[in-house]
Amino acid sequence: MTASPRPLRPARPFVLAIALALAASAAAAPPPAQQVPGVQHRAIGPLRVTALFDGIVPLPRQRLRGIDETDMARLQQRDFVPEAGDGVQTAVNAYLVHNGHRLTLVDTGTAGCFGDALGQVPDNLRAAGYRPEDVDDILLTHAHPDHICGLLDREGRAVYPRATVWLSREDADYWLDPATERAATTPEPLRPLLAMARRAVAPYRADARLRLFDAGDTLPGAATAASSHGHTPGHTGFLFEAGDQRLLVWGDLVHYHAVQFARPEASFEADADRAQAIASRREQFARAADGGWWVAGAHLPFPGLGHVRREGAAYAWVPVEFAPLPVAPAP
Ligand SMILES: [Zn+2]
Repeated sequence: MTASPRPLRPARPFVLAIALALAASAAAAPPPAQQVPGVQHRAIGPLRVTALFDGIVPLPRQRLRGIDETDMARLQQRDFVPEAGDGVQTAVNAYLVHNGHRLTLVDTGTAGCFGDALGQVPDNLRAAGYRPEDVDDILLTHAHPDHICGLLDREGRAVYPRATVWLSREDADYWLDPATERAATTPEPLRPLLAMARRAVAPYRADARLRLFDAGDTLPGAATAASSHGHTPGHTGFLFEAGDQRLLVWGDLVHYHAVQFARPEASFEADADRAQAIASRREQFARAADGGWWVAGAHLPFPGLGHVRREGAAYAWVPVEFAPLPVAPAP
């Protein structure tokens, strides 16, 4: 016996209903309201380097000197750099370097010193799988608040309970000496920043965990202190050995990435000694480009890791590409 054929119903309303249901379910998922954690890991030779995002700060383009307005505007537009009414979008980054034995943090972010939108380093450090108590050493490129304030939390307590803090002798002499604040030659806008620096190191100093270094010293984590003063009296980059590779964590060698690689002679208004800051930038660009070094910059677009390439008489920034970490060999 064969079944009698059922009358065919038109398929269209059914297909339409499914399409509508799919559209409704897609619309039901809310768009993300929060960015993912500002963390990126990178294997560089035997090192595991982790970029930590602290936030962004707007830098007015007028604070870059030694370049005419039209040239600056052209370079900014060429790289599609976001710029709001209050300035050019500028990242604040810190870096963790794990060499298998020690965990070193280079710079600490702003904590509360630049407002509530920044100060994300401790949260991102945790998101990266570390705890503040895991940090053995903190190397400070200089004593400006966006690098040093993050030693404390917003309540003024030390964030890193075990870490030894390392600062160049020249920056300590200038930034931590109360006499600098009283000196008539100290520019007025610097005075509150001097107080911030002294406050940031206070609990570490009281605990005998503040150490000073000189240019050329070898620091924990096998980093060499590579002097690049000019931005501050003791501004320093840290050159890490990574097998046959090198990583220079260079602090504030660059503030306006779309401009200063192409025009290394353009200098940031806040540079303490602009001529010296320019000379340091040129020197470190040349060394990094010719050595094929990895570099990490506190104000390069996050994660701020990449290379420097020579381009005629100037330079270009080559950002890193996101990549998985290598699989560890079986024990
Ligand atoms: Zn800075």
